Amino acid sequence: MTMIDFKQATENLYDEMVTVRRDLHQHPELAFEEFRTAAIVAEQLTQLGLEVQRGVGRTGVVGILEGAQEGRTVLVRADMDALPIHELNEVEYASTVAGKMHACGHDAHTAIALGVAKLFSQHRDQVHGRIKFVFQPAEEIAAGAKAMIDDGVLTAPRPDVTLGLHVWNSLPIGQFRLGSGAVMAGSKSFRIDIIGRGGHGASPHETADPVVAATHIVSAFQTIVSRNVDPIEPAVVSVTQIHAGDAHNVIPQTAMLSGTTRAFKQEVHRLIEERMHAIVNHVASALACTATLVFSEGTLPVSNDPAVTQQVIGAVAPLTERFQTSVTSEITMGAEDVGLLMTDVPGAFWFIGSANSERGLDYGHHHPRFDIDETVLQIGAEVLARSVASYVCVNG
Ligand SMILES: [Zn+2]
Ligand SMILES: [Zn+2]
Repeated sequence: MTMIDFKQATENLYDEMVTVRRDLHQHPELAFEEFRTAAIVAEQLTQLGLEVQRGVGRTGVVGILEGAQEGRTVLVRADMDALPIHELNEVEYASTVAGKMHACGHDAHTAIALGVAKLFSQHRDQVHGRIKFVFQPAEEIAAGAKAMIDDGVLTAPRPDVTLGLHVWNSLPIGQFRLGSGAVMAGSKSFRIDIIGRGGHGASPHETADPVVAATHIVSAFQTIVSRNVDPIEPAVVSVTQIHAGDAHNVIPQTAMLSGTTRAFKQEVHRLIEERMHAIVNHVASALACTATLVFSEGTLPVSNDPAVTQQVIGAVAPLTERFQTSVTSEITMGAEDVGLLMTDVPGAFWFIGSANSERGLDYGHHHPRFDIDETVLQIGAEVLARSVASYVCVNG
């Protein structure tokens, strides 16, 4: 049995992956609205002869590639959703939908996973076990992984390992980041509603001003990370929205704040929440207002299993040699709901450099001019295919 030539195989798939990525890029769909994308994915997986499950976690798709021999089950995760951003790039494959854009690279993830599915469908005789390709919706609202798990994506068959990647514009093309342990923070979002007593802007003494309460709450929040959390522990409390009032001479009745918190440890999350509740309640009441604070369920930190991390680093050694680089760790307070697919199942999630500053392809993720060096499609597919093969191919 000959070994698969991963470099050649993914180079052969390159044009097709570019076509898929550009088509998805032109037709971005937001969280849980990935109907067109899911239909394309399901159609391609069916053509490749995979067993296809549609509507897993509302708009998610699963394709199972059964190998010729018995063996382990590898879950490959790709996300499919776009963002509510108006694209400012003037490329021929720019978004055709006003106000929606693939500004995180999930179009590339879907194209890469489809490419890898095609690669292994052509080498089924070499696969021991099975590969479960998971095309997840709604990553950007941290809800898709949960929805797919609720629909049984981690059962029948249960994966032995979860693998996933993110194209990463903080890194130039040809660089790789994969660290053992926690690499992305757990996140929660929150919303605060402050109720005061409105009135005339010229008669503040007859009102309870929710705008003043809101600003004091935001100021007091700044002490949580600086004065309550152990300085050795990473943590973030960011208020990102303040909404109140409609007129220059009216003290409004209510004010709304929302934002996000990030931390790696559950106990830090708990401390942040306790302090936020205390601040919201006491500051509001001291200023004659009432307030409610509600947290979302949030995402877990992304934590790479040490053994899986080592195996993947070994599997991608030919690439790091070719690019004369090494795999190092990267930790970010960014969050990813892939963490949910890697809690009961050991896994690894890594970052593949996709920036090319000489070509102006180095805007950050979620920027209206975000774009990638598309050679990351070949590199990403080769990295993913080699990693999968190390679990399901004898010569992997
Ligand atoms: Zn994103
Ligand atoms: Zn993303």
